[in-house]
Amino acid sequence: MTDLPAQSPLSLRGLSVTYGDKPALSVVDARFPHAALSAIIGPNGAGKSTLLKASLGIVQHLSGEIAFFGQPLAAARSRVAYVPQRASVDWDFPTTVLDVVQMGQYRRAGLWGRLSAGLRAQALECLDRVGMTDFATRQIGQLSGGQQQRVFLARALAQEAELYLLDEPFAGVDAATERAIVDVLRELRAAGKSVIAVHHDLSTVAEYFDHVFLVNVSRIAEGPVATAFTPANLHATYGGRLGTAPFGLAAE
Ligand code: ADP
Ligand code: MG
Repeated sequence: MTDLPAQSPLSLRGLSVTYGDKPALSVVDARFPHAALSAIIGPNGAGKSTLLKASLGIVQHLSGEIAFFGQPLAAARSRVAYVPQRASVDWDFPTTVLDVVQMGQYRRAGLWGRLSAGLRAQALECLDRVGMTDFATRQIGQLSGGQQQRVFLARALAQEAELYLLDEPFAGVDAATERAIVDVLRELRAAGKSVIAVHHDLSTVAEYFDHVFLVNVSRIAEGPVATAFTPANLHATYGGRLGTAPFGLAAE
C-alpha cells in the first residue's frame, strides 16, 4: 500500500522515467485535485504523455510512487479512463463508431461475452453527449480527426470512470468539437469526476482549467491556475521558446 492521499485522483511522488539512458521525467511530485479540471502543460518532449503513460503502467518507471485515489493502479483501474494522444491510435482498424464506444464497457459487460440492450442504450447516450449519434454505424476510419476524438471521448464516458486522463484532447479538432469537448468536461466536473488533460494551447488554460501542472522533465510548478499559471512559471517551463504572451495569465 501507499500513503499517498486518497482524496487525490492521481498523486505522484518522486516519479522518474528514462527511455534508454535519456531521462523523460525526473523525480516528479504531483497531487491532482478531486472534482476539478487539471491541465498538464510544457513544451514538446517535456514528458507530458510520459507522465500519463507511466502512471498507467504503459511505460515502466525507474523509481517513484504512483497512487490513484490513494491506491495502486491495480486496485483503482476500473475508476480510471484514458484517451491517448490521437497519433498513437490505429485508425485503419475496421470497426464501427458504436463498437468503439462499447469497448469502454467491457469491464461491466460481465462474463456472457455479449452486451445487454441496456449497455447499448448507454453507449448511444454517450455518443449523444458528444454529438455523434448520427455516426453510430459509421466505420471509425471514415471520420474526420475531430469526430474521431469525440468518439474516443464517448468511449471513455461509457467506462463510467471517476478520473479521465486525456492526452491533448483538443489537438487538431475544429472549434465546434472543442466546445463540445469542453462542455462534456464541465459536466464531468459537475458530477464530481476529475479530469487531467495534457493541453498545448496556453491561451485557453485559464478559461478551461482549475488546476495546472507545469513540467519540463522536472516539475516546474503546480497549483490553482490563479496562482501557478504565472509568466515566471511559464518562462521557467518554456524558456525562450515561448513566443507571444498567452492570454489569461495570473498576475504575479
Ligand atoms: P510530450 O508528450 O511532453 O511531448 P513525451 O512524454 O512524449 O513528451 O516524450 C518525452 C521525451 O521522451 C521525448 O524526448 C521523446 O522523444 C522521448 N520518448 C517518448 N516516448 C519514447 C519511447 N517510447 N522511446 C524512446 N523515447 C521516447
Ligand atoms: Mg505528448
